[in-house]
Amino acid sequence: MYPKSDKFWNPLLETLPREKLAALQIKKFRRIMQWAFDNSRFHRKLYQDAGVAPADIRTLADIARVPKVEKSMMRNIQKKDPYPYGDMLCVPLENVSAFRQTSGTTGQPVYQPDTWQDWEWWAEAWAYILYAQGYRKSDRVFIPFGYNIFVAFWAGHYGAEKLGCEVVPGGVLNTEARLLKMQELRATATMATPTYILGMADIARKNLGMDPARDLFVRRITCAGEPGASIPATKKRMEAAWGAKVYDHIGATEIGAWSYECEAQPGGLHVNEGLFLVQIEDLETGKVIEEPNRPGKMVVTAFDRLAQPCIRFDSKDIIMWHERPCPCGRTFRLIKGGVAGRADDITKVKGVLLAPSAIEEVVRGIPQLGDEYEVVVVKKGDTDDISLKVELQQDAGNLKGEILQKLNDQLRHKTGLRYDISFHPYGSLPRYEVKARRFKDLRKK
Ligand SMILES: [Zn+2]
Repeated sequence: MYPKSDKFWNPLLETLPREKLAALQIKKFRRIMQWAFDNSRFHRKLYQDAGVAPADIRTLADIARVPKVEKSMMRNIQKKDPYPYGDMLCVPLENVSAFRQTSGTTGQPVYQPDTWQDWEWWAEAWAYILYAQGYRKSDRVFIPFGYNIFVAFWAGHYGAEKLGCEVVPGGVLNTEARLLKMQELRATATMATPTYILGMADIARKNLGMDPARDLFVRRITCAGEPGASIPATKKRMEAAWGAKVYDHIGATEIGAWSYECEAQPGGLHVNEGLFLVQIEDLETGKVIEEPNRPGKMVVTAFDRLAQPCIRFDSKDIIMWHERPCPCGRTFRLIKGGVAGRADDITKVKGVLLAPSAIEEVVRGIPQLGDEYEVVVVKKGDTDDISLKVELQQDAGNLKGEILQKLNDQLRHKTGLRYDISFHPYGSLPRYEVKARRFKDLRKK
């Protein structure tokens, strides 16, 4: 029987018992693999070379034998026929209705074609996210995003419309104009990167004498694009600045909107297992990890994306399963604490593995420090040298010694490293509009 509930966007899928969910996932995996096999030369060759056929897929373990697709493979076929996507394309070129590309933070951008049906699928995936975060028809959602070739909040816009929210596109307005429009229209929700959420609050206070928590009507914020909303100290700063609940979402251009934090805020994000299969692989052995609290690399499949399918995509994101199910009642599994980093850029400094998010957690956990900071790693002779620049809040000058002590202790405890720490006047470190570059590794140059 179809469960009646207004708690879930899709009450049937989101509460499906795990064994039924697994059976559905296997069926949907086989279907998308067959689609790619039949319609794309790239995939057919990939599977034939590996000696696996869609009909061989009967268990989740069978899926782990299907070859992975890496970003570099996508770059290699790009700009070939059918131009500019290459032979991963599964539909006639004229059926493509949307072009997006990756931001290119790890090299040459990857192109992503979508059909209209794919675009509807994007909006549907976002509807799960927004509904789980409490968005309803009565919300007026302001989207302060430069609508462009990056997918970013495009799908958030359409997902919110699909839910019946009223959506205000804040396109080319500058930050002050966006804030004033949000105030004028009494927007109840917004979406942006954590960097921009904090940046907007800063500009509101400094340039407009506006306190977002007091003078605006925003009650919920959806973050994406950076790990901040899953870093407790950063989440707390954003929630305090806006007087709103802040929720995380992780997605990617080549994958889709695969995860969401729900209103229960369980310390992790649900994988949308109705639309995606996420498998976590051990970094060394490649074996699938089922147990909680063991980090590995995410390999992900989107079941319903047709133009340029995402099948066993090697995302390089480091994630781990949560040890508990979520109190919200969804059976979709949780990944704990968001994405911890990328397998590509796990950084070793002085022989110690370093996740930049650990530094962020420490800096943002000290209230006398500003939101911005910068970490620079350089080579001095044979050894690595790591420096951290932080901003001191205007009234905290006399606490410098105490703060320095706190920073040193907590950083050593959390990251096992010693830093060359310097204080800078509030407002002097670079501000970022969208994604920040606060971690600079200059050793390779
Ligand atoms: Zn939940």
